[in-house]
Amino acid sequence: MSAVEELRYGGQIFDAHTHVVDIEHLDLMVRIGERYGVSRSLLIVHGNSIDAIKRRYADHFLYAKYFSGYLLLSGDVDTAIREVETLRSEGYSVAKLHFAPFWRTRNGTLPLNAISDPRLDPFFEALREHDIPVLVHIADPDTYYATRYADTEMFGTKDDHISEFEERMDRTQGLRVQVAHFGAQPESHRLANLGQMFARFPTLHVDTGSARWMARELGRNPEASREFVIQHADRILFGTDCVARTPDVSYYEGRYVTERLLFESLVRDVPLPFNDPDTAGRGGTFINGIGLPDRVLHRLYWENAAVLYELE
Ligand SMILES: [Zn+2]
Repeated sequence: MSAVEELRYGGQIFDAHTHVVDIEHLDLMVRIGERYGVSRSLLIVHGNSIDAIKRRYADHFLYAKYFSGYLLLSGDVDTAIREVETLRSEGYSVAKLHFAPFWRTRNGTLPLNAISDPRLDPFFEALREHDIPVLVHIADPDTYYATRYADTEMFGTKDDHISEFEERMDRTQGLRVQVAHFGAQPESHRLANLGQMFARFPTLHVDTGSARWMARELGRNPEASREFVIQHADRILFGTDCVARTPDVSYYEGRYVTERLLFESLVRDVPLPFNDPDTAGRGGTFINGIGLPDRVLHRLYWENAAVLYELE
């Protein structure tokens, strides 16, 4: 794709949000990432492959242990706390928590309903005590709430889910947090609330995971997005949400190209190099770059992760 010529940043990049589902495809994800400047990444490990991965990649990754919403909302807090206590000795340095509306469809069987539930206090306190940074998914795109989560009786609203997370931050002050997907608030009408959250919670960070979600929303009003990112440049980490699960080169390439064009360039109306089901009926998603200055790119691409994750 010719827009690749627009990529101008020459420094190292830390990808703060990647997953491995299928270890046999990890090499490809790493190789394509390197082609786009990524020299280290935070890897969320699904399954028990951490030892095998560590043997193969000495220093490329920091590892995040995955705690499902199912585990946490089932109320077995003691088991979750034990996993926090052994997390570092198993080779992990970050906890990944996933709270999304779909866990609520299991409401009938899950005794807890939200990240703010006071019964989870000891779990979050254990994370804080062990000084383990948390990467957390708190809500999905507005487009999902308009469609698959339209039944608010069943799923609650997105505003509910964001408030529940804010309540958690109030309950467990000082927890080091990276909220995935721009705090679930890249939509332009939500940026003001995210800005207020940054002011209220000094240990709050967000990542830029999901190339299509970020391109779709941050590219809608690139000037306002640019101003917001510059204003909060010390809280935003570059992350792609790439999942090592396919041998399809274009899958990884599409995510890296999109994210870098979005942050570095001033391109206009470049078609997203892959399908975005959320805009399929409305003409598709287009990349509009927000052209960040180099000093801001350096913060997003490296410096913020180096501070949050204490990289050597
Ligand atoms: Zn993810």
